[in-house]
Amino acid sequence: MTENTKSLVWFWDALDAYLSRHQLKQTKQRKIIVSYFLKLSKHVDAEVLYRKVRGGGNKIGLATVYRTLNLLKDAGLVDQHSFADGRAIFEISRPGMHHDHLVCVGCGRIDEFENAEIELLQKKIALERAYVLTSHRLDLYGRCKSCQT
Ligand SMILES: [Zn+2]
Ligand SMILES: [Zn+2]
Repeated sequence: MTENTKSLVWFWDALDAYLSRHQLKQTKQRKIIVSYFLKLSKHVDAEVLYRKVRGGGNKIGLATVYRTLNLLKDAGLVDQHSFADGRAIFEISRPGMHHDHLVCVGCGRIDEFENAEIELLQKKIALERAYVLTSHRLDLYGRCKSCQT
């Protein structure tokens, strides 16, 4: 077990708990898809995940990949982002952790940022309008360094 996989034991535990709470079985296909998902980089494109799974010699359909990702979403284990370029991007949702995104319209690169001032400003805006914030999403679009030439 690699260091990376080991630190994600909580993910598997939470998934098992969710499945048993909903009287669902952990299927072999689901397990394969989740393993590949966890091995990919932070922001996982569903189609890229599908190609990786197929490339590994697994006969699993794209619909099954989407079903599994949606299940992880329902379980609160992943967040889905729909960036302006139409790709469905999934990433692990870590409780209490938050970040925003910079998306390159040239190559699709995704960077993360956190800015205390922006976070505070958003809370201030909500407060002024008597909202209690439950979540927010902030995506900035532009061209990354290598796409500016
Ligand atoms: Zn770029
Ligand atoms: Zn992210």
